[in-house]
Amino acid sequence: MNKTTITKIGVFTSGGDAPGMNAAIRAVVRSANYYQVESLGINRGYEGMIDGEISKLGTRSVGNIIQRGGTILKCARSDNFRTKEGRAKAIANLRKQGIDGLVAIGGDGTFRGMHELIKDSGIPAICVPGTIDNDISGTDYTIGYDTATNTAVEAIDRIRDTALSHNRLFFIEVMGRHSGYIALNSAIAGGAVAVIIPEEQTTFDELYTLLEQSGKANKKSSLVVVAEGAKLNAMELARMVAERSNYFDIKVTILGHLQRGGSPTYFDRVLASQMGLAAVEGLLRGEKDCMVGTRNGKMVLNAFEDIMNGQVHEIDQEALRLAKILST
Ligand code: ATP
Repeated sequence: MNKTTITKIGVFTSGGDAPGMNAAIRAVVRSANYYQVESLGINRGYEGMIDGEISKLGTRSVGNIIQRGGTILKCARSDNFRTKEGRAKAIANLRKQGIDGLVAIGGDGTFRGMHELIKDSGIPAICVPGTIDNDISGTDYTIGYDTATNTAVEAIDRIRDTALSHNRLFFIEVMGRHSGYIALNSAIAGGAVAVIIPEEQTTFDELYTLLEQSGKANKKSSLVVVAEGAKLNAMELARMVAERSNYFDIKVTILGHLQRGGSPTYFDRVLASQMGLAAVEGLLRGEKDCMVGTRNGKMVLNAFEDIMNGQVHEIDQEALRLAKILST
């Protein structure tokens, strides 16, 4: 590879944590080491960058973390970094440490912050999409999404056992912020009768008709998966069904943060490893202000503008059709 003059790469995780972030940190450090470039870990994202929480990472310091959820570098949100003064402090700390390349692992907010930092400092940086929400355009998958969806499916399977034993109707709320990816695919894999996501406006009447039909079809239990970003949340939907009829024995489960934790799946570990290497090699080729993504199994680099001005990561209409056909 035609190497640039980068000598020290700073790596950090930011925004919400996602399983597989550790595998990405490991991949960045080991890839940098392969090219004889030093790595420094920045703790607590942009907040730690401002506070100067930066220390050397060697290949051994990222040993035994590939299987661990969360992030050894911690995550943080930072209002200070949104200000010019905050970023100036962060840049001064990066310069003090001799950092001349950055890899940011996080969501779209993290990318926006990175874009501002590049504009203010000229330090080349590449972003790696790490968020369970899978809501970033320019990549088929984000790190953590596969694990979080598997966790949701496992929970749905367990809920199905109890739902069946009592002939109950369960509303299960899953994470995903404004995106219905986790909800849609965990609903398909968990055999839900319906899925409510922000990308598709299912009316309450449509849902109720579906539930009635499933009751008439002699279903012994019904599971409805609701994305946290849906217009009506699981509690509201449950209340509305109960108000309309006392036919159903209704329960609500909100999975919440348990979907963020746990050991990453093989898929997220491999994806994170590939993305970490691609980010380092991108920096060494002289790329900057872009995000690593995966398209049909191949690593790609997307320009920041394309990610931010592009479409949101649209829901797969074919998956939606599948969920509907198989739920009846
Ligand atoms: P997740 O998808 O898990 O929420 P995220 O990266 O989108 O992750 P955010 O809280 O939106 O999480 O962003 C992380 C941090 O990035 C913010 O706390 C802030 O410090 C920084 N940031 C976001 N937007 C900007 C911006 N426009 N300018 C400067 N910094 C920003």
